[in-house]
Amino acid sequence: MNHPELNALRTELDEVNKELLSLINKRGELVQQIGKIKSAQGIKKYDPVRERHMLDLISTENDGPFDTSTLHHLFKEIFKAGLELQEDDHKKELLVSRKQRPENTVVSVKGTDIGGGNPILIAGPCAVESYEQTAEVAEAVKRNGLKILRGGAFKPRTSPYDFQGLGIEGLQILKKVADQYNCAVISEIVHPQDLELASEYLDIIQIGARNMQNYELLKAAGRINKPILLKRGLAATIEEFINSAEYIMSQGNGQIILCERGIRTYERATRNTLDITAVPILKQETHLPVFVDVTHSTGRKDLLLPAAKAALAIGADGVMAEVHPDPAVALSDAAQQMNIEEFERFVEKLVQSGFIKTKQTV
Ligand code: PEP
Ligand code: MN
Repeated sequence: MNHPELNALRTELDEVNKELLSLINKRGELVQQIGKIKSAQGIKKYDPVRERHMLDLISTENDGPFDTSTLHHLFKEIFKAGLELQEDDHKKELLVSRKQRPENTVVSVKGTDIGGGNPILIAGPCAVESYEQTAEVAEAVKRNGLKILRGGAFKPRTSPYDFQGLGIEGLQILKKVADQYNCAVISEIVHPQDLELASEYLDIIQIGARNMQNYELLKAAGRINKPILLKRGLAATIEEFINSAEYIMSQGNGQIILCERGIRTYERATRNTLDITAVPILKQETHLPVFVDVTHSTGRKDLLLPAAKAALAIGADGVMAEVHPDPAVALSDAAQQMNIEEFERFVEKLVQSGFIKTKQTV
């Protein structure tokens, strides 16, 4: 049917649609700009007073043919879409996301690259108990080709009556041993105030599972210039874990290593349940290096080697394990730390099976 008037009206309608489209998008852009200002100022995106004002304006300005309630309905949809646009803008890729940065982040620690495709081991005692105990482990760590020694100075223990660590003295012991044995050292810090001082003694700062959602600690860790090893919380989802890393990175510090250390489930055969698939998920979702702590996840010496192999086979950038010269008398985690001989066999097996590059001689 060819009706000139109808055709003309349709052409005009098409033009109006185009204008509406352009106006709706223009509104979207304005809303995004407002969203940015609100984000910067920490103001909530949804403002009911402002929305009421806009609806009132529509009521007073409307002279038909649509009735006001229909227009309110339409405009509310437009407002909602605008709010979603603001949220999307805010939710736009996290800094730690692989979408934000396709290349792997490589964390360099005293000449050792973490996340660069060459998996490494970090080992050391659960807690720094004395200079002698730490030095003995450091010697074994170096002799077996490792470059990074761990040791807890501030121990977050389940019971307040258990050994709490040597504190600053423990950090000083680690520094002394690091200098003597030319290795890097990592230790957990539990208080934001200690971060600056700890940075003078440590090469990597660990944020433990119990503090994964200590947001003030995470923010403070984001403001220092030191690699951070962030452990997954006892009952944290992968999304929560990633967001905790984002807390650090949002403050400027992108030198972050994620560490899966087992989560709490109903299973009692192991201390925690090692969520092995968290490794490839974290590798896919973020650009950060991913470690697996085989000691705290399994809590069983007989499972350290298979868990380490599994971790490295599934793509971990490294494995952390605890070693003590005499585990039976260790002040913490006595049951699950390897002695030096066991540690040597552990490294040897991982080298033999090709998961870790050849033992470097000191
Ligand atoms: C540790 O590595 O010393 C430790 C306490 O581990 P987590 O925070 O994973 O329990
Ligand atoms: Mn321990």
